[in-house]
Amino acid sequence: SQIQRVLLALTLPLEVLQMVKDRMKEAMNKGLSRQTHAQANVQMLPTYICSTPNGTENGNVLVVELCQSHVRILLTTLLGNGNNSPQLTDKIFDMPGDITQGTGEALFDFIAQCLRQFLESNDVSNDYLPLGFVFPFSCKQTRLDKAELISWSKGFSCSDVEGKDVVQLLQSAINKQELSQVKVVALLNDTVGTMMTCSTREKPCEVALIVDKGTNSCFMAEAQYVQIVEETSGRMCVNTEWGCFGDDGALNDILTPYDQHVDQESSNPGLKRFEKLVGSLYLGDIVRHALIALATEKALFIGSNVTALETKGVLKTQQVLEIINNEEGMTKARMTLEALGLRPSERDCCRVQQVCRAVVSRSAALCAAGLAAILSLIRQSRGLERLMINVAVDGELYRAHARFREILQSVAGLLAPECMASFVPSMDGSGWGAAMVTAVALRMAQQRCEVDKLLAPLRLSRADLERVQALMRQEMDLGLDQETNANSSVRMLPTYVRGTPDGSERGEFLALDLGGTNFRVLVVRLGENGIHMASEIYVIPTNIMQGTGEALFDHIIDCIMDFQLKQDLMEQVLPLGFTFSFPCKQLGLDKAVLLSWTKGFSASECVGKDVVQLLREAAQRKQHLALKVVALVNDTVGTMMSCGYDDPKCEIGLIVGTGTNACYMEEMQNVGTVEGEQGRMCINMEWGAFGDNGCLDHIFTEFDRMVDEKTINPGKQRFEKLISGMYLGEIVRHILLALVEKRVLFHDMPCFTLQSKDIFKTKFLSTIEIDGLALKQVQSILRDLDLHATFDDSVLVREVCQTVSLRAAQLCAAGLAAVVEKMRENRGLSQLAVTVGVDGTLYKMHPCFSQHLQQTLQDLAPNCTVTFLQSEDGSGKGAALVAAVAVR
Ligand code: ADP
Ligand code: MG
Repeated sequence: SQIQRVLLALTLPLEVLQMVKDRMKEAMNKGLSRQTHAQANVQMLPTYICSTPNGTENGNVLVVELCQSHVRILLTTLLGNGNNSPQLTDKIFDMPGDITQGTGEALFDFIAQCLRQFLESNDVSNDYLPLGFVFPFSCKQTRLDKAELISWSKGFSCSDVEGKDVVQLLQSAINKQELSQVKVVALLNDTVGTMMTCSTREKPCEVALIVDKGTNSCFMAEAQYVQIVEETSGRMCVNTEWGCFGDDGALNDILTPYDQHVDQESSNPGLKRFEKLVGSLYLGDIVRHALIALATEKALFIGSNVTALETKGVLKTQQVLEIINNEEGMTKARMTLEALGLRPSERDCCRVQQVCRAVVSRSAALCAAGLAAILSLIRQSRGLERLMINVAVDGELYRAHARFREILQSVAGLLAPECMASFVPSMDGSGWGAAMVTAVALRMAQQRCEVDKLLAPLRLSRADLERVQALMRQEMDLGLDQETNANSSVRMLPTYVRGTPDGSERGEFLALDLGGTNFRVLVVRLGENGIHMASEIYVIPTNIMQGTGEALFDHIIDCIMDFQLKQDLMEQVLPLGFTFSFPCKQLGLDKAVLLSWTKGFSASECVGKDVVQLLREAAQRKQHLALKVVALVNDTVGTMMSCGYDDPKCEIGLIVGTGTNACYMEEMQNVGTVEGEQGRMCINMEWGAFGDNGCLDHIFTEFDRMVDEKTINPGKQRFEKLISGMYLGEIVRHILLALVEKRVLFHDMPCFTLQSKDIFKTKFLSTIEIDGLALKQVQSILRDLDLHATFDDSVLVREVCQTVSLRAAQLCAAGLAAVVEKMRENRGLSQLAVTVGVDGTLYKMHPCFSQHLQQTLQDLAPNCTVTFLQSEDGSGKGAALVAAVAVR
């Protein structure tokens, strides 16, 4: 029958709702994406609200709420006590009827006058009063306190406001009233206000729905998905403006003829299609058009004159809601219809009630589909299997009507089964929430100030970096000169390696690698078709590292013999290259006096001795007479050589692992510490010690000093302690401790573990800084350290890590810039193309270190084109290549 057909058209089966949800999600993604944002119907406006209250907010806060026909002003005093039982004072000022159609200036002057009256009668004597402005129109916001009105709606049409910053307009009007102590610090949409109103510390709401005359929603989105905002860390509240969903036709297949009539009669035909299906402003008229259609088909009101039904607005949503009420409903239906001059039968009343139910149910179900889209977006972007979330709700439809609530909740549950939403009804409108936003904004600004103050010394300017570069250059020159060598903190040790490989090296070699994380013995075969290696890792027990030199070298010989036995190499006399990554004064390729131990070694009777000789003596003691040590090689040199085998331009070696160091090919005529003027020699800079003579003191922060004090070599390797893997985690830990002390991090949470040295590993920086890593994962890393981080905490920890690793990369770049510029000058070139062979886990594993290093280097040394080549096992290969060059 006709009535069945009408009800069917108004009833959306689950599959259709599922489709609405999917399309809504698609529309939302379109709004979030940088490319499609401009054309999107669902605009997904960023609100610049990035944090929910944490209960520490305090002070006086003003709120101005611009409503349909009045201005509400509210004053609240937050006590920092978890925001329990805040004091609220408010007053409503009715707007003169014509003001919404007048000039913008008049509107804002009126608001400011209300504010003045309010402050006078409440005697608020602060010299600084932050104000939050609730402005329920869609705005293009670029900061919390900067928002251009896109277009008026809801009957407003004041001149000269569209396209202007409404915060500024309000602030100017306030200043005109000589209330300059009042500062507009936040502008927010009413939806956001609802979300904040319902949030408490224990139970933050991350989604809000408004189902009132209109409908809208907002939610905390992962900032990286809000592409029109630069910020990529943390979350930001997005105002969906979902009322416009369907304006591109996405809802056409579910629209009924009654919806089309309602749209045609509205002041904005074709627009806000979703809102016109959901918002209470329209439900009465949808019902009315359905009734007209039924009456026309003689399915209702037979014998009545139905012309009264043709007037827009005669059937109020309030009446619709009363009609669907179970007990009173039928009576209400009869009264309402009779008031319209109709003479309804019992059956008519029953049918009208069915139509009303269908329209309200559809509104709730569509709202649920929209909500399900949001929930599933959040769940996916946070990488969660299941999402538990609190949803703030406001608006008369939700508040006044149990059936609406039931449908909304159950349909949302069916459409997003992997999400658990708890609904939190809003008690007191958006005013209180706006106060919270304002207070949070204030707290964040204060915290930001503290954080910036603390991190400022770690943020190096271009001038700082140029100075480091110039100082490095100065120390290099001092170190190369025979006379001044002793005064330089950069030792510039000659290596007696005079050339890089040319790829023609052949043969079979033994190699040792001592001074990295592991001690290894290797056999390296340089053949026609590349390099083949086999190796074995051996442990050097601490008692041997820190025992006698004899014991250490005896142990090394034992390991070599074991290796030769295993590899069946006992019968051969292979030339051996020894990668020895400690500072040595080299007197020949196979003659190197140890200057000092580093990295935890302290074997006695070695410093000041020729290391190659010590190895040979141990071989004799052990009767291992077939050992032929031909070269001692620093790991930087090994790295350069191994990369040089593949790329002849590789004339620099760099290590950024446990420690940091570099070597490069210098002109013999500049090497004052070695006889001879011809050709080049590789110089092991030992740049980790750069600054040990005090020349970098201006760069060190209190955190660097604390880290240095707790090392086994305080005052030594100062440059290395700013850059390398052994120290970055420690620097971060000290900064975090300082932030805790300033009460801007891990507020009220225990963080004893942070007191333990080395608990914050440098590899954590690598993970935490991965671009786009969900904050949940940052939280889980911190949780493993027994640190219970909020999202704000996680964002801050990430910022600290980024600051420390960026500085490390930039300082490393400043050092390298000095090197490449010197090489360019040496060769009298206007442009130098050179390759750096690099090794070290920090360089290889950190997600941004290499990129920052390369960018900064290009900036500091624009006349050099520098290529970076990662070395594969440079220590082993390199030692063999040096040995090969030596025997040749
Ligand atoms: P070495 O310099 O001793 O030869 P590596 O180059 O392997 O050894 O560097 C080891 C250092 O790298 C460790 O001290 C550690 O701090 C750091 N490290 C280990 N894993 C990572 C990682 N994923 N990201 C950044 N640094 C790391
Ligand atoms: Mg190494």
